[in-house]
Amino acid sequence: MSVKDKTLSVLENNKGDFISGAEIAKKLSVSRNAVWKAIKLLQDEGYNILAVNNKGYCLSIDTDILSPQSIDKYLKNDLVNFNINVYKSITSTNDLAKELAIKGEKEGTVIIAEEQTNGRGRFNRKFYSPKETGIYMTILLRPKIHASNSFLITTAAAVAVSEAIESVSNKEAKIKWVNDIYCDNKKVSGILTEASIDFESGMVDYAILGIGINVKPPKEGFTEEIQDIATSILDYDPSISVDIRSRLIAEVLNRFWLYYETIENKSFIASYKSRSLLIGKDINIFSKNSLEKANVIEIDDECRLRVKMEDGSIRLLSSGEVSIRI
Ligand code: ATP
Repeated sequence: MSVKDKTLSVLENNKGDFISGAEIAKKLSVSRNAVWKAIKLLQDEGYNILAVNNKGYCLSIDTDILSPQSIDKYLKNDLVNFNINVYKSITSTNDLAKELAIKGEKEGTVIIAEEQTNGRGRFNRKFYSPKETGIYMTILLRPKIHASNSFLITTAAAVAVSEAIESVSNKEAKIKWVNDIYCDNKKVSGILTEASIDFESGMVDYAILGIGINVKPPKEGFTEEIQDIATSILDYDPSISVDIRSRLIAEVLNRFWLYYETIENKSFIASYKSRSLLIGKDINIFSKNSLEKANVIEIDDECRLRVKMEDGSIRLLSSGEVSIRI
């Protein structure tokens, strides 16, 4: 790690408090001049660092720049050694994670971006990912599970994201089968899991778990296309917003990993079902060339939707086959 990165780590761990240049230099075993240079570089990158004679340096509490250092302080690193990588702008965190997975990058690598220029969902739908207000992250996984169980990754993630949202805000998070999180009846988060399967064994070779969350209202607002269906976690309450995106990322990672370690126990399924927005609702089911109406009876343990069609017949829907609008 460079002196700049180490200095940022010290400042992040003391955010809102002054720490003297001498103390930082001692902690890092470098000269005070090296610390001063690192502070300058960080300020040039946009960090709001106050420098006061006889007090030292203070990273302003309202700084909200994502970095491995800003996230690391909230991570339970005893779970797994996450390898956090943060980019200012990227086409899609899933695309980069996929490239890395193919090259053999290890499980627990996390790609995070302040902005995605081509964020996407299922069926190549766009996920609007404006800069500095949301979280766009992908976790690289190498689960030892059969392809038929890969739905568990999305399900565990949906529960982890819902719990994480509730832990950093006063919102209630609901899940719209199969992979969307809603607050106040609007979408705040989308999840896209993509997996590569070993054809011989039918086991998952790698999976990439992409998560997009609207945290603050986008500076330019949501696009016209989604302004009626999308919302963000903060409407704006500054009192709960300190480090909100870093805390939320760490909460998602910590919670997801606990479920992931014993994924086939399905300990999260009950929570998934109880958060469901669809049970009991009338829905439209869109498949290739048709639109059908149904009523949702339940979500089963394989995470399929059991629905009653208009003609009274019962159908089990898997996530891949249909797109649902309430
Ligand atoms: P869905 O289940 O909502 O049909 P999806 O799961 O296939 O979508 P996502 O990437 O989660 O894929 O969502 C893409 C869809 O969500 C878009 O078609 C658009 O309607 C909506 N959307 C796009 N960007 C956002 C956003 N930032 N916040 C909320 N909704 C969005």
